[in-house]
Amino acid sequence: MSEHQPNPQMEALVKQMLVQLGEDPEREGLKQTPERVAKSYQYLVSGHEAKLADVVNGALFAEEVDEMVLVKDIEFYSLCEHHMLPFYGRAHIAYLPKGKIIGLSKLPRIVDMFARRLQVQERMTVQIAEAVSEVLEPLGVAVVTEAAHLCMMMRGVSKQASVTTASCMLGTFRSDPRTRSEFLSLVRSPNPLA
Ligand code: ZN
Repeated sequence: MSEHQPNPQMEALVKQMLVQLGEDPEREGLKQTPERVAKSYQYLVSGHEAKLADVVNGALFAEEVDEMVLVKDIEFYSLCEHHMLPFYGRAHIAYLPKGKIIGLSKLPRIVDMFARRLQVQERMTVQIAEAVSEVLEPLGVAVVTEAAHLCMMMRGVSKQASVTTASCMLGTFRSDPRTRSEFLSLVRSPNPLA
């Protein structure tokens, strides 16, 4: 991924935003803020630049496994596109291999690729599932995401502890209720290492 260049236009916008928020952008604590904000937003949406093939980087292996592969509790941080405020939580990804498995460290990287952009949780969940399906061509893919949305938690009267769940089931996870319920019960079971 390319180094992020200084972005004077973005910095000018952030400075204007500070003024509109009733701040003095020249005061000590805010002097470097436009530059920092511009940089961090570039990073937070850098998933747009990522290409699935680069993320996977050839880590696919021929393997005759016919049991479900599940990686639970993949941390993610994203930005809701309606408020540009964070939502964050965990993703659980399962697939039923068809002659191919993927290096396990690649699944969190696929999650990051879609989390690091302006998002809605539901779309992110589908995009993760479709990406796993595209690279592995498995019998099925299941993705569940659980997230806390700061746009709900920090504003207004919403329940602060509420968690939003989204899911996407493809292939056998969609067509076979037993596969789906095996996945869901594994997702709900406590992490023995936690
Ligand atoms: Zn929002």
